[in-house]
Amino acid sequence: PSTPQWLESWTPTGGARRVRTVFSRAFDGDEPDGVWFAPGRVNLIGEHTDYNAGLCLPTALPHRTYVALRAREDGVVRLVSAQAPDEPWEAKLADVAPGSVSGWGSYVAGVAWALSEAGHTVRGFDAAVDSCVPFGAGLSSSASLECAFAVAIDDVDTLGLAKDDAGRAELVEACRRAENEIAGAPTGGLDQSASLRCAEGRALLLDFRPGLPAVESGRGVPFDPAAAGLELLVVDTRAPHALVDGQYGARRAACEKAAELLGVENLRAITPDGLEAALAALAPHDEDGVLTRRVRHVVTETDRTARFVELVSRGLVAEVGPLMTASHASLRDDYEVSCRELDLVVDTAMAAGAVGARMTGGGFGGSAIALVPRDDVERVAAAVNRAFTDAGWTAPGFLQAPPSAGAGAV
Ligand code: ADP
Ligand code: MG
Repeated sequence: PSTPQWLESWTPTGGARRVRTVFSRAFDGDEPDGVWFAPGRVNLIGEHTDYNAGLCLPTALPHRTYVALRAREDGVVRLVSAQAPDEPWEAKLADVAPGSVSGWGSYVAGVAWALSEAGHTVRGFDAAVDSCVPFGAGLSSSASLECAFAVAIDDVDTLGLAKDDAGRAELVEACRRAENEIAGAPTGGLDQSASLRCAEGRALLLDFRPGLPAVESGRGVPFDPAAAGLELLVVDTRAPHALVDGQYGARRAACEKAAELLGVENLRAITPDGLEAALAALAPHDEDGVLTRRVRHVVTETDRTARFVELVSRGLVAEVGPLMTASHASLRDDYEVSCRELDLVVDTAMAAGAVGARMTGGGFGGSAIALVPRDDVERVAAAVNRAFTDAGWTAPGFLQAPPSAGAGAV
């Protein structure tokens, strides 16, 4: 059987060299004003909690999108990407508005648009993109694209937002608006927060209670698997996203309906202690038990996230395994968003020595994570790879994911 396919991350120097080459080929040998990057992200725990005013805990990948950019004085945006070699992109900033642009450049132009909407003066630019964040794997290549441009524009147009966490929270908002309103993809800001507000050796605890000031919504939490002899392994299942349409909307609708029946603003209002009473109150309105299962996942998942944070804050990374595995079981059985590929990664990784494993992201495909003793990483990857071969499925991709830095200049 084939050997596991590792998706390597680039060093900052390596990424910068690549993207400078793409830039000078596209733009007549010229030099950019600089090079910036933003990472993809993976969620450690806290899934489908964001739209329920709950907690989640992403960390930044060493896999990043790199941008080489030079400002222009005529309000034009010209873009090239090594990942879209046949789709150079161009638009006038003044023409960018909801519904007016399409294609991959809309993620980028959307950031410039949202920053101008927020009152900043943003010039046009020529820019090149190169990235080692896999597309569509649930690791947020789209947010890394937006956030790399957010810090680049912040720098060349001297907005001064990237210099502290409060300013970064404003950049998050601009990137979220870009993805929602210009690229037309629903996103709640988790991905952009992770890409812009994470730091090396840390995870980011995000609290989605409405009305929290932006800076209080995110807090860095020490997360150092290496110190515990562990590595975070990410597995891109490359599972075809079948039957996904409508599932996300249906989960959201079920949560909203349950909150309404319970007379609460959102499911965060239900504490673990109050769960049993809430489920009893739902029962008469829930013959098929769907609402019961959805609510049980949401309430227990935010609780698991809080307990995960407590453990890693005390350096007890090796003890979070059961929380991860319980999170997976809850997403599989109660929230019903896993799939056979994700389940196979989790079961195989656990059998091969992982201390914890779970699906990550929205589900129905995408990626899974496993926390693995350093010396077992190759063995776990080989076992998962073999299990996919035996099942006759496309080979997965493997990423090593030490908690890495948020967006910045190279
Ligand atoms: P993901 O889970 O990776 O964020 P999305 O579907 O949200 O998946 O975003 C993927 C899209 O983002 C791509 O189809 C493309 O339009 C855009 N994108 C991301 N990275 C790049 C890149 N390096 N070059 C061009 N487009 C990109
Ligand atoms: Mg995305």
